[in-house]
Amino acid sequence: MNDILPDVSGTWRYLETVVRDIVQSYGYAEIRLPLLEQTELFRRSIGEVTDIVEKEMYTFDDRNGESLTLRPEATASVVRAGITNGLLHNQRQKLWTTGPMFRYEKPQKGRYRQFYQFDVEALGYDGPDVDAELIIMCARLWRALGISRLTLEINSLGTPESRASYRGALVEYFSSVKSKLDDDSIRRLEQNPLRILDSKNPDMQAIVAAAPLMLDFLDEESSEHFQSLKGLLDAAGVAYTVNPRLVRGLDYYSRTVFEWVTDALGSQGAVCSGGRYDGLVEKLGGKPTPAVGWAMGIERLVALYEACGGEAPADDADVYVVAVGENTLERAFAIAEQLRDEVAGIKVELNLGGGSFKSQLKRADKSNAAFALILGEQEIVEKRVGLKPLRSTEDQSSVAFDDLPATLAALLRA
Ligand code: ATP
Ligand code: MG
Repeated sequence: MNDILPDVSGTWRYLETVVRDIVQSYGYAEIRLPLLEQTELFRRSIGEVTDIVEKEMYTFDDRNGESLTLRPEATASVVRAGITNGLLHNQRQKLWTTGPMFRYEKPQKGRYRQFYQFDVEALGYDGPDVDAELIIMCARLWRALGISRLTLEINSLGTPESRASYRGALVEYFSSVKSKLDDDSIRRLEQNPLRILDSKNPDMQAIVAAAPLMLDFLDEESSEHFQSLKGLLDAAGVAYTVNPRLVRGLDYYSRTVFEWVTDALGSQGAVCSGGRYDGLVEKLGGKPTPAVGWAMGIERLVALYEACGGEAPADDADVYVVAVGENTLERAFAIAEQLRDEVAGIKVELNLGGGSFKSQLKRADKSNAAFALILGEQEIVEKRVGLKPLRSTEDQSSVAFDDLPATLAALLRA
């Protein structure tokens, strides 16, 4: 679990703002959800035989003996909230949410025990138009951030029925190579053979590569759905590769699944993953409701943005107010407040804790502010302040109190 320190929090906030603004521009609305849910919610939605439920959840009993879990992902909570608040009664919902998720994983670069996700979910839409829109929205985000080192992988998992016949074929195939399977896979063979395709064990990759493909078992309607999705992506100019082994680590997906992956972050290459989960709302007690969504890992987004040379806009102070001498502090406060009132977006730092002129100027310089405003006893008498450019060799000038907001507004626009 990481502390997000001030040297990087500016980049985080910038990226979160860009993601949020883009998602909002597609008509999605924010929903804020609790960090804790009943354990049962995740068992039922994510699936018993998944990495998350088997070994990654932070689960404990509360004082009433009720089993609670720190959310490992957001989709289940979004669906739960949709059902319990009646948001899905004859309505469709386009929602986003963001915040920390918790998984007891082996910590490594790009994989943490508390990590942040940005989630987008469309409930009540059967697609494939909305599937395409959710992907096109991501492509817009990458463009907006100048991120290029990403590829899009898509696949279809079909309906539960077509997946059942695929499951049969997988069991037959993996049983025939059972002696080469690792322990996890042998266990999964009985309970959830699709999960074997999701294995992270390098020794399993060749066996997985030779397994039958879901796409050969797709039902007619899912196949058409997938064709239309590809057509919409083609028309929008969004490149993709079909990865027939993409199954995603959660049980609830159906039909469309996709992942934006990068080669820029080592082995933690999945930056944004999503898919359709048409059966989940009903499974959790709601009316049958088609749905689709994605989740983006913010740590990985930050790392990828930096790997692509991205730099968040600087967030330094515009002016640093230096006040020396008797009774100058009150005026300094007044000037700082007036500038914040009258100059849109200005960032003013007031020298706190006194100090000599020299030490205050040193702090002004260290703050990276563009200008120091200098206020001494003489300035108060003359109703003027010294305006000293800190990032250029230009000379200090003197500005009347009354002209200060307009002068600074003009300088900061330039
Ligand atoms: P992975 O294959 O890397 O384990 P996942 O399939 O478990 O990912 P999802 O559950 O789909 O991931 O979560 C969506 C996104 O959240 C991922 O694409 C990734 O960017 C991010 N993510 C998942 N787990 C972690 C983690 N432990 N630390 C940081 N980011 C994570
Ligand atoms: Mg995982």
